[in-house]
Amino acid sequence: MKVIPADKVIYKFTADMEPIASVLPGDIFKVETNDCFFQQVLSEEQDLKDLDYGRLNPATGPIYVEGAEPGDLLKVKIISIDVKDKGIAAVIPNGGLLGDQVTKSIIRIINIEDNHALFQGVKIPISPMIGVIGVAPAKEDGEWTTDTPWKHGGNMDTKDIKAGSTLYFPVNQEGALLALGDCHALMADGEVCFTGLEIPAEVTLEVDLIKNKSVKWPLLETDEYTMVVASGDNLDHAVYEATSNAVEYIKNSLAIEWEEAYILASLSVDLKISQLVDPKITVRAAIPKYLVATEKLIDSL
Ligand code: CA
Ligand code: CA
Repeated sequence: MKVIPADKVIYKFTADMEPIASVLPGDIFKVETNDCFFQQVLSEEQDLKDLDYGRLNPATGPIYVEGAEPGDLLKVKIISIDVKDKGIAAVIPNGGLLGDQVTKSIIRIINIEDNHALFQGVKIPISPMIGVIGVAPAKEDGEWTTDTPWKHGGNMDTKDIKAGSTLYFPVNQEGALLALGDCHALMADGEVCFTGLEIPAEVTLEVDLIKNKSVKWPLLETDEYTMVVASGDNLDHAVYEATSNAVEYIKNSLAIEWEEAYILASLSVDLKISQLVDPKITVRAAIPKYLVATEKLIDSL
């Protein structure tokens, strides 16, 4: 299996990124990722202020997918995410949702044993996920540092981006130019303190192309749902975008009136908060597969 090492990273998603590897549709390959600190945190005694902030949120890549052209969808199936045996969580003053209440910086290095994170006497089951994953943005959409989520993906920090899930990205540039990093052994919806359990990982992916279909925001398929993963300057903007796209997809795939699709969304589409702490807020509108299968939804795009 092809292995793409973690020393080839980007800190910005741009339209003209230089690929460092290439794969074919249908390929299964492994991507090694750094933790969001680029492994600069080695001890709980370190001061977060001393880190090189230019090296935060490295994303391994970009990976050129042969045959991907603007106007296609890039399908990325997450086969597995293998994480190391310890991760890092941290808090800084003014960091996260309750940053005004934080009186001091702390770093905690948290061990993982038997698929559980051990912290303060509590055993929390891990559920490894990818924080940053995306493709080259459209030129008119500008450049996006890897700490920010947008239409190209990026720092979506969505706990359902885990093994067994499949992402669908809009291809904006030839080769799509996929990059990923910032894995978490686990995190909760909201990511309130601004870190998950930050950890290096080995991610096994399978890529494919769906020709001539496009989406505004990435879609995320899980066992039960097709989720629209949208981001905005605040929670209201993000949920409006996610819901608006979900209603449009329901309308088109079921061939019903917009108002009827709006009712169906109100009855069956859960809105979930992904994260509240990145430069833009991310949410997902979860369309149940009993309403419309992911394949049918994509066919109707
Ligand atoms: Ca993140
Ligand atoms: Ca992170």
